[in-house]
Amino acid sequence: MTNQPSNIAIIGAGPSGLMAAEILARAGQRVTLYDRMPSPARKFLIAGRGGLNLTHSEPLAPFLSRYGTAADWLAPSIHAFPPDALRAWAEGLGVETFVGSSGRVFPRSMKAVALLRAWLKRLETLGVHYAPRHTWRGWNGAALTFTTPDATLLALGGASWPRLGSDGSWTTILAASGVELSPLRPSNCGFVVPWSAHLSSRFAGSPLKPVAITHNGVTRQGEAMITATGIEGGVIYALSADLRDAIARDGTTTLHLDLRPTMTLESLTQKLEAPRASQSLSNYLRKAGFSPLAIGLLYETTPPAQLAALSPRGLAARVKALPLTLTATAGMARAISSAGGIARHAVDAHFMLRAKPSVFAAGEMLDWEAPTGGYLLQACYSTAVAAAQGILHYCNQPAPTHAA
Ligand SMILES: Cc1cc2nc3c(=O)[nH]c(=O)nc-3n(C[C@H](O)[C@H](O)[C@H](O)COP(=O)(O)OP(=O)(O)OC[C@H]3O[C@@H](n4cnc5c(N)ncnc54)[C@H](O)[C@@H]3O)c2cc1C
Repeated sequence: MTNQPSNIAIIGAGPSGLMAAEILARAGQRVTLYDRMPSPARKFLIAGRGGLNLTHSEPLAPFLSRYGTAADWLAPSIHAFPPDALRAWAEGLGVETFVGSSGRVFPRSMKAVALLRAWLKRLETLGVHYAPRHTWRGWNGAALTFTTPDATLLALGGASWPRLGSDGSWTTILAASGVELSPLRPSNCGFVVPWSAHLSSRFAGSPLKPVAITHNGVTRQGEAMITATGIEGGVIYALSADLRDAIARDGTTTLHLDLRPTMTLESLTQKLEAPRASQSLSNYLRKAGFSPLAIGLLYETTPPAQLAALSPRGLAARVKALPLTLTATAGMARAISSAGGIARHAVDAHFMLRAKPSVFAAGEMLDWEAPTGGYLLQACYSTAVAAAQGILHYCNQPAPTHAA
């Protein structure tokens, strides 16, 4: 063990970089935190706009399963810094958390601002030097272009919402350095549906709730929203990895919308057996409680003559399984997160790049993906803690007395 503090460069001041900075500064290291933006953690702040979902309260086994094929890779980090530790850490910053009805964990205020303010204050007290407006463009020989540290943590995020700072440009630099990567793809994203001009102009921005979607035999219930070019929202995000991969494989994919998820086929059939008399079908459906959007979607996906000829049971079946063909993802700019990044085989057990000893990586840059629900931030925090511990080990420094 050395008595001299090491110089650590952390590039990327999102939640992953900030968490690693805290661990390393607590352990007495000289930490400089670089970011290309004028202020830190912009995506974290935006994440708090709709309710900052810090983590999830479900038991660890189902929790880990949300990371799919990356579950066993992330398990040691998440076991070492689990959701309870994350809640305790937030509460240590004076931010009380609560478990919502869905099991998701939020700060009492729902926002990120108070937490970030207290966190930055703590980092300042710990002596972390913050260097904004520094864009990392790669190495100059063995050195970073703007510093020569003993160890470096890259915490540059994925590629969604690039205007907030993370644009994935680091992939070109790391690929050129021989780091194995999987391409960045939108995750928890919306999709393109080739709507008619009528549906798009009349219903863009309209919510669909509650709705269930089924794709490849998997059903999720929640909320969605029609956009001018397609569909987005929580229930779509929940299946977005499968939808995206199916489109990549087959060119398009079809999901089925259940516009009446709270009714069985039988009860809906009974309801639609009420005589129609001389009413038009759309009037009849409107009186049966269908919204203009639901009626619009029925007509959008079924020729009028075919719709009119359906029996009550046929109509109920259509309402409960409306086919919607998706032709593309809605792109990175509005995706909640990105899939892909540094391959698991490209790092060691401490998240050090095998091709670049002394350089570590954490957070969304690593090749895992997860649905919304607090799983994204939890993996960022846990991998940052693990990478920071790895840096201490690499620099022959003692571990801090408490993790965070
Ligand atoms: C709208 C929205 C809502 C979300 N809500 C939630 C939620 O409620 N719960 C949840 O778990 N997750 C949520 N997320 C996802 C979560 O915010 C991200 O997964 C998380 O911020 C990733 O953290 P990170 O530190 O790895 O990367 P980032 O937060 O992206 O931070 C990376 C930092 O690196 C900097 N950087 C990038 N490239 C360079 C470079 N070349 N040079 C210098 N600096 C660079 C960037 O400026 C940025 O500050 C949400 C995301 C969005 C967009």
